Amino acid sequence: PSIYIGLYDKCSYASRDRGWIVGIQAVSDQGYMDARFFFSLKTDRAYKVTTITAHQRYSSNQWTHLSVTYDRRQMKMYVDGAQVAVSNEQSGDLFSTLTRKCKILMLGGNTSGNNYRGYLEHFNLWSQARTQREIQQDVRHQSYRKTNHLPQLVLYENFDRVQTLWLTGKDGTYPKIKLSYGSEWHLDSSLAPPPCGHTTCDNVEVITNYNHLSSFRQKKVVRYRVINIYDDEHRRPTVTQLQIDLQHYYLNKVFGKYNITWELSVLDIKNSSLRNRLILANCDIGKIGNGNCDPECNHTLTGYDGGDCLKGLCFYEKKKKRNGVCNFECNSELFNFDGGDCCNPEVTDVIKTCFNPASPYRAYLDVRELKNVLQLDGSTYLNIFFANSSDEDLAGMATWPWDKEALTHLGGIVLNPAFYGVLGHMDTMIHELGHSLGLFHVFRGISEIDSCNDQCMETEPSLETGDLCADTNPTPKHKLCQDPNPWNDTCGINNFVNTPYNNYMSYADDDCTDSFTPNQVARMHCYLDLVYQSWQPASKPPPIPVAPHVVDHTAESVTLEWLPPIDGRFYDRKNNIVCSMCDSTMAWHTYCLEATEPHKIDTWGLSLKSEMASPPDVEQACETSVRTWSPVSAVNAQTVPPACPEPQGCYLELHFRYPLVPDSLTIWVTFVSNEWNASGAVHDIKLLTVGGNVFSLGPQNVFCDIPLTISLSVLEEVSGIQVYTLDEHMEIDAAMLTSAPQSPLCAECKPVQYKLIRDPPFQKESSVIVTDLSRRYID
Ligand SMILES: [Zn+2]
Repeated sequence: PSIYIGLYDKCSYASRDRGWIVGIQAVSDQGYMDARFFFSLKTDRAYKVTTITAHQRYSSNQWTHLSVTYDRRQMKMYVDGAQVAVSNEQSGDLFSTLTRKCKILMLGGNTSGNNYRGYLEHFNLWSQARTQREIQQDVRHQSYRKTNHLPQLVLYENFDRVQTLWLTGKDGTYPKIKLSYGSEWHLDSSLAPPPCGHTTCDNVEVITNYNHLSSFRQKKVVRYRVINIYDDEHRRPTVTQLQIDLQHYYLNKVFGKYNITWELSVLDIKNSSLRNRLILANCDIGKIGNGNCDPECNHTLTGYDGGDCLKGLCFYEKKKKRNGVCNFECNSELFNFDGGDCCNPEVTDVIKTCFNPASPYRAYLDVRELKNVLQLDGSTYLNIFFANSSDEDLAGMATWPWDKEALTHLGGIVLNPAFYGVLGHMDTMIHELGHSLGLFHVFRGISEIDSCNDQCMETEPSLETGDLCADTNPTPKHKLCQDPNPWNDTCGINNFVNTPYNNYMSYADDDCTDSFTPNQVARMHCYLDLVYQSWQPASKPPPIPVAPHVVDHTAESVTLEWLPPIDGRFYDRKNNIVCSMCDSTMAWHTYCLEATEPHKIDTWGLSLKSEMASPPDVEQACETSVRTWSPVSAVNAQTVPPACPEPQGCYLELHFRYPLVPDSLTIWVTFVSNEWNASGAVHDIKLLTVGGNVFSLGPQNVFCDIPLTISLSVLEEVSGIQVYTLDEHMEIDAAMLTSAPQSPLCAECKPVQYKLIRDPPFQKESSVIVTDLSRRYID
């Protein structure tokens, strides 16, 4: 645990836990997840200690008002004024007057070294249990400043005069005083998504505003780019001009109704090598020739999944191997692809015969390889790629807006050219664009769930479950243009009426699908604002997602506060790129750009760059993910993973795009093996400075569901870090350096201007312009 404060008994050696403590501890058995506020208490006459914990894990990097009370009958805990835990287990006086002299109050830790590493703004100790009403007043008005004189207030500590009131603990130092630059917000700015959602756009309050306010759904122009591959002579395009024109016309006809207009660009690429190869839409090349028949990789040009989907035999194996001819019956993994003959460009037309996934001449690529070859910027256009599929059903694939790749060269949409700009298949691209703009299938919640306990299961239409739209009734997956046939659902739901089969996000055909619902349109507009600002030529900031709140009032005035625009940018978009990394205190953030792990760079150096170089994006903390770095991911599947050997273990080296003098370092460790607890996994973090110095920060406690933030006091520019671990399965999602507030790098940035309107009007004028970063107005 990490202890804020406790009252201990220094006389009683028999029972050292008399008194009370308040702090943070992990609730789960594993000890590396679900850290919550706790309050433990044991009266002098009680046999055992009672601990109550908060209802959910604490939010890091956010001020919290935490109160605990004991009134001789009940222990209670309040978080930001809300009662979150209660117990009747302890009763009577905390201690008798006889033992009063034995009691000591300790702040910031205990004698066992369970110290608190964070900030405390103030601390009050009352001789009487405060009521919930009084506590809520404290939260709202910060009235502790006014209640100084109350006789029940035993101790009021704001750390102005620590040295005169307190004795130092073990190392003889007092806590450091740090001035806060940012305003102390009253407004809760965490617009959390529901458990089944991903982003702010899934937050019910936000999406309800997008539904109700037409100004949030004003016309948006969005750029997309068709990547058309030709041969070297600029012949044989992947798709024809007619397909492109037809599909474009149709897109705008459909989306125009919903105030979204698509602006077309076409990029012609002359490359016979790419044009002649099969581009596989959803086959992982590693599965070709792995011994299992993978239908998504089964194609004549993969040699039927490298032979995995073939039952034929190579009768003349010995005779035909390395005979200078590509013998098709031996062209499979089983026979080492005819001993190499079928991938030898001097022997055969490799573009037709080379099925060996390990050969550079192979006849096929997967989409990810294609995207890596092309390296097309995904931040200014939605890129449209084409690929074939062995599976006739697969018409397209899209990148979700919450994917880390959404704005990179690995994002975009992949379409089967047979389903693009072809009458009868025009809705395929509409459907994929829906996914790109944050829409789920209408059958999510019935069909796309893991179990009947899945938090996305949808029993009635809702903004919080299923496809997160309340105007699409639950439905199982089917292709009919009517309500589904009677259905034997394993979760016991079988009455599906008025189902959205003519919705573009269903699996019905073109002659059936014809609409998006208002909730879907709201989601698309929200995601265009939240993620895809850079695809739009317009530079106007997106809306403030929720209305301003009254956070305080007196007899003569009200104080209003509001959130920044939904894309989280505090500064005008027309300024330089650096401004997008400045926060409201003018502190500057930089995420790690690339990662190298010196011993194994050739096996995964490249892929790691794209997985790590951006904000955290793991969907489910505390579970393994492919989007992270991990020592074992560096090793290919055939070899035995190396244990991270003691004492150094493995380390990951991360580099930042812009070196800076950091105020803090934040690391998202999203997975730790069961063998480790919070304190064992990361045994050192080293800062690498531009000047070549190395500073060790020592072992760190990590929780997989809470980012680790370490306050730093280096005076040099830091360009990278090394994270040391003995846990070969540990996964790191992202890392970020933050400068001190008021960074000169942010000085040039122009804050977004806010226009505040109220009905009835404000006392002085009808509307107010706020041009600074305060986001607060007192009328
Ligand atoms: Zn789909």
